[in-house]
Amino acid sequence: MAGVYFHIPFCRQACHYCDFHFSTSLKTRERVMSAMHSELQLRKDYLNQQPVHTIYFGGGTPSMLDTSELKDLINAVYAHFDVVEQPEITLECNPDDLREGIAEEYAAMGINRLSIGIQSFRDEDLKRMNRAHSAAEAVASVHRAQQAGIDNLTIDLIYALPELSMDAWIRNIDQALELNVPHLSCYCLTIEEHTAFAKWKSAGKLRLPPDDLAASQYLTLIDRLESAGIHLYEVSNFARKGYESKHNSAYWSGTHYLGIGPSAHSFDGQSRQWNVANNVRYAAQLTDGTPWFEREELSAFDRYNEYLLTGLRTTAGIDLETARALCREASHTALPFDPKELVEHGEAEIHEGRLNLTRKGLLRADAIASEFFIIES
Ligand code: SF4
Repeated sequence: MAGVYFHIPFCRQACHYCDFHFSTSLKTRERVMSAMHSELQLRKDYLNQQPVHTIYFGGGTPSMLDTSELKDLINAVYAHFDVVEQPEITLECNPDDLREGIAEEYAAMGINRLSIGIQSFRDEDLKRMNRAHSAAEAVASVHRAQQAGIDNLTIDLIYALPELSMDAWIRNIDQALELNVPHLSCYCLTIEEHTAFAKWKSAGKLRLPPDDLAASQYLTLIDRLESAGIHLYEVSNFARKGYESKHNSAYWSGTHYLGIGPSAHSFDGQSRQWNVANNVRYAAQLTDGTPWFEREELSAFDRYNEYLLTGLRTTAGIDLETARALCREASHTALPFDPKELVEHGEAEIHEGRLNLTRKGLLRADAIASEFFIIES
């Protein structure tokens, strides 16, 4: 089982919190698209003949592409790889791109999952974030996707936004439930360097909620979604049974994937590879044959640390025997932590040899994992 990821590095405008790789200039569009086709061809053996179960268009804003450009990329995957019947094909799209009739075109070309970047159902939040859509467009986009028969829908929401009260956050959650979407990805706002939000924060112009309000918004989210039958399965991801993202779940369980496009990452079980995060250089290097990526072999330490980092973020948790075996491969005779201590602090539970974090633990999942990392000396 393997996946193919496309990073489409263009956006209509820069959201004030975002540090992903994208450009608002479309000058390189043709060159980048052509280079992505070349990269697919050049790396057709990367997945070692493993069947492709998932194709994911992320970005950037993949829904800015014409349907013909998306179709060409999907066809190229079928041409170069062994694709299973009915693969999960996800397209990230912004609400303003989901115009009348477009979801039907997506469905016709095999796209069977849409990830809609709503972020908030409040116009004041959307304006502050510099999103290109309105709250009304957000609601309309979900309806359009549903009318086109794409019921495998996920929406993104952000909590701990400036001036987002608990009541306003609950209204955002309830609006999502009213729309009957079976999957949500909900992220805590983080202030990334070199973003407009970071500048405003250091100038004292961004009123961020205190940490305890951010934590309460997260716990309220879990409660409200769980009581509607939408369960938490990864720190930021919630789904009705059967609607969990196959693509992301595969990442978290160590499945191999090929990433195509500027800044895209790939993993083949032994090494990680990441493409240059620059549209001009990506297109030029693919044309002139200069390597367009960097590569790193995973050490035994990396494999143990990654197992902890990805596993502890999921509700399935980690298998303690697997963690011990990875530890031994890294020349450590025992785990560098006592699982029982986490249980005593109410941050984890152990069932049938698996350790998973409780809600209290999930609030600081990354910190817990990094406390237990083994550092190569
Ligand atoms: S649309 Fe998405 S990728 Fe583009 S700037 Fe906004 S958040 Fe970032």
